[in-house]
Amino acid sequence: MNILLINPPNSGRSIPEERYGITSLKQIFRGEPLALEELAGNLLEHRVRILDLKAEPDGFPQALLDFQPDVVGLTGVTCEANVVLQLAARIKENCRATVVVGGIHASNDPAFFNHVAVDYIVVGIGKKNFAALVAALAGGNDKNLNLPGVIRTNPGGQVNRPLVRNSVDDLVMERPPDYDLVSRYRSHYILEKLGINMGFVVSAYGCPHSCSFCSIKGQTGGSYLTKSIAAVIRDIQLLGKVPVIRLVDANTFGDVKRATALGRALQESGMKKQYLADIRSDTVVRHPEMLRQWKEAGLRAVIIGFEEIDDASLAAMNKANKAAVNTEAISILNDIGISIVGDFIISPDYDENDFARLSTYLKGKRIDLPMITVMTPLPGTPLHRKQQHRIINHNLDYYTLTNAVTQTKLEEKQFYTLYAQLLADSHQNARL
Ligand code: SF4
Repeated sequence: MNILLINPPNSGRSIPEERYGITSLKQIFRGEPLALEELAGNLLEHRVRILDLKAEPDGFPQALLDFQPDVVGLTGVTCEANVVLQLAARIKENCRATVVVGGIHASNDPAFFNHVAVDYIVVGIGKKNFAALVAALAGGNDKNLNLPGVIRTNPGGQVNRPLVRNSVDDLVMERPPDYDLVSRYRSHYILEKLGINMGFVVSAYGCPHSCSFCSIKGQTGGSYLTKSIAAVIRDIQLLGKVPVIRLVDANTFGDVKRATALGRALQESGMKKQYLADIRSDTVVRHPEMLRQWKEAGLRAVIIGFEEIDDASLAAMNKANKAAVNTEAISILNDIGISIVGDFIISPDYDENDFARLSTYLKGKRIDLPMITVMTPLPGTPLHRKQQHRIINHNLDYYTLTNAVTQTKLEEKQFYTLYAQLLADSHQNARL
């Protein structure tokens, strides 16, 4: 079988740009499509191609023509969901391929893809299930398919998210991602701030926590799953000379014992790489010795979801953390010499005082690269269930995390002007 796996183009839309000419809030994503590379690594019996439309925006018609796929797999985050459907429709117009959609939006909101242009939806980690689906299609046995996490679409009817918790078997970690399939795009995958090549490796899936706005639970159905240390080292080595490795896990340090062992193994491997990884601030505070050891292993920067600067706001988003812990984590990391990429979430309910408060906070802390997004009720999350009556913009193109899709408390133009100002001020001394 010919399997074409497609990463959609950068496609989110920007309210501040379209309505007020504010261009600085638009986000461009430059990373490699690791989820597709992982799928490809488990399709050894087939011819597989990856088309990365973020790196090759005009490549779609030619890829269909040249490759004549039997199956096309599409992935996408929420702001790409409409474009994924449009691509699916174009595939159906141009060839007879079976169209399968997976990824984080499909996992959290599978009903969105219950559409005539889509044949199957894969929910959760698809590495094992997608290969099983392809095998069934190849053998003509897909009619009575019963794979947990694989949904046959039923346009006009109902589709519910199956209650599937992924297990470690779903990682199929004995088969590494097929990095070779994106080698022609490798020069596009750079760490923008430094202009150097960056490769993606996954070492863990899901997260043990339950922040109300976070869509990560949909990735695994709630499990926190880790790859073996040997598999992580192997994957890093497969990236060859790529100097910076982004561990794309939502939470690399969710199991401290295992994360400590991984840090030690990275150090002992002798690989001279730099690493970027996500961690919670309470993990930093509880285990500074682990961070010191990871620093020795090459940890250059951590990404931390600080989210908000007071306890009431953190509690409202079920962050299970405290503002004082965030402050302590910042000083521990400053002390160790690990750079901080700090995620903050502003609410559409922000007024001038809230913006000023956050601005003062950021000026008073050494956070090397603050990232500021707008609280967005992503479909499938607890926040969405709570706030759906407040949503005024249902077009998923705007679910980029830099648009307010609920009513802003301030006049909208003022909200985006203050947001852009806050971002510009906080990036004045940004470094990594
Ligand atoms: S700690 Fe991070 S990854 Fe985990 S649920 Fe909260 S926001 Fe999501």
